Amino acid sequence: MGRRKPIIGLSGGIGSGKSSVAAVFAEMGALVISSDALNHDILRQHKVLEKLAAWWGADVVQPDGLPNRTRIAEIVFGNPEQKRRLESLTYPLIAAAREDMISRGNLDPAVTAIVIDSPLLFECNLDRQCDKTVFVEANEELRLERLRARRGWDAGELRRRESWQLPLSEKRARADYVILNEGPLERLRPQVAAILEQIAAGR
Ligand code: ADP
Repeated sequence: MGRRKPIIGLSGGIGSGKSSVAAVFAEMGALVISSDALNHDILRQHKVLEKLAAWWGADVVQPDGLPNRTRIAEIVFGNPEQKRRLESLTYPLIAAAREDMISRGNLDPAVTAIVIDSPLLFECNLDRQCDKTVFVEANEELRLERLRARRGWDAGELRRRESWQLPLSEKRARADYVILNEGPLERLRPQVAAILEQIAAGR
């Protein structure tokens, strides 16, 4: 039997650097479970794509058989009913994959902690599964600058997507720790190390 590992949940605005923080936790021996990555994989499953094509038309699947993510985002981010419909299909699959990873992480002696990187940590009540939660902080201007450079988003796109989420002030207030990510990436390592130390010391 493996010992139960501490589960740490990450929250923060889009582009705040949750994945970057998760990568630092991974460097320090944590197993990272990314909801975005699980969602990404699940959308490639044949049975999922078949269903989406039946709902929304063949153009949600590209000619190469991969999901047309831009088209899917267009459909769901403009229509709450279709968004719920997609979630009712994918969320149980994501939850099952997450549970499976947590069990494997608990059994793996090399894993020091389990990190859940989810844009909807509190909204989906995943925080209830966590021993501690961390809010990654970066101001809106910086987040927009990062998203503009890496994903070509504008302010409208960021606002539209974040409007589905809890206000950042609430996420921040509910977190046990805050990591500030407004400087260079090197500043993340000491902050992550300090949190792991505090968790290990039971604080
Ligand atoms: P999130 O997971 O919160 O949406 P990411 O970790 O994916 O955010 O970061 C968004 C983008 O900004 C990524 O391309 C990442 O490399 C970049 N980024 C994150 N933190 C920093 C930083 N401190 N300095 C420069 N770029 C950063």
